Amino acid sequence: MKHLSEYRDAHLVHAIAAEIRKTVTRPWVLMEICGGQTHAIMRYGLDQLLPPEIELVHGPGCPVCVTSLELIDKSLAIASQPGVIFTSYGDMLRVPGSHRDLFSVRAAGGDVRVVYSPLDAIQIAQKNPDKQVVFFAIGFETTAPANAMSVLQAHSLGLENFSVLVSHVRVPPAMHAILSSPQNRVQGFLAAGHVCAVMGYWEYPPIAKKYAVPVVVTGFEPVDILQGILMTVRLLENGQVSVENAYKRTVTFEGNQPAQGVINQVFMECDRKWRGIGMIPASGWCLRPEYAAFDAEQRFQVNQIQPAESPICIAGQILQGLKKPDQCPAFGGECTPQNPLGATMVSSEGACAAYYRYRAGLQV
Ligand code: SF4
Repeated sequence: MKHLSEYRDAHLVHAIAAEIRKTVTRPWVLMEICGGQTHAIMRYGLDQLLPPEIELVHGPGCPVCVTSLELIDKSLAIASQPGVIFTSYGDMLRVPGSHRDLFSVRAAGGDVRVVYSPLDAIQIAQKNPDKQVVFFAIGFETTAPANAMSVLQAHSLGLENFSVLVSHVRVPPAMHAILSSPQNRVQGFLAAGHVCAVMGYWEYPPIAKKYAVPVVVTGFEPVDILQGILMTVRLLENGQVSVENAYKRTVTFEGNQPAQGVINQVFMECDRKWRGIGMIPASGWCLRPEYAAFDAEQRFQVNQIQPAESPICIAGQILQGLKKPDQCPAFGGECTPQNPLGATMVSSEGACAAYYRYRAGLQV
């Protein structure tokens, strides 16, 4: 654990926090993009070490949270069909659809299974040739290479009973959407280190330049996050608009090019709806036409879904940095991890779940 303890060193954490306090002279609003970073900030109380001038708002980088309600409802419709084995990461089972979740489909007799990798779903398909096996392919740039690989493997195996329900989303178009909104409050971004480990950060300089907003590639441990904040604050205080890398042990400018190659082989850009936010142009990846045979949406013809979102849930505003979870009237009352009204209260990367778990004296 040596490597981890270095990045959780209390003396270093306090030294960087002191440097931030020394550097800041006026208010700044920073957004950490990734829900994993939000949880680390809450878990270690990093926001409480910052001077009052620095406000952290929480971004849309939680794949479970932004998977559109329409796709959740499609997953429920597919999983309910006889002869289907529906496979998914565990977080998705409790995400509320319009009227129910995957757990309730399973309780009603549906064959819904938790897997740890899309390749597990491939194995299930090989062992069950008389069933249709569907994998719920959600996530940002981080999970896309493995999901693309599963499609390539199914193709090379000639599997006709495997398909993917694709809900891939991309970070840069979401940054454009947030920054171009008239309500935007974000003045600097902490970019998600694991996304950049795959994609590099070559897509960010045009965004930083267009909106005059600095971006710092940031990791997930307390020292990483505070270092990212310090570098962002220095750029803001000096009036510099640039992209810097505070996660050099993992991220290069170009990223993982073989992984990018696999993604581009299987997926192409498409418009994508984000839960609570709406349609963001070119913000998703969909299967290329040559892999359409593996598209669960086409295989199961579930295009007549009319989703109905909770009228109370403000998760969309939280994911754009416009509100905080504890500003939601349902937080901790009508909405809890046991009885969630929105995905941000369910996901292990959701901002509402982080506030519930680490703040307000509440426990999951
Ligand atoms: S507390 Fe619940 S209802 Fe409120 S925004 Fe979060 S998930 Fe939605």
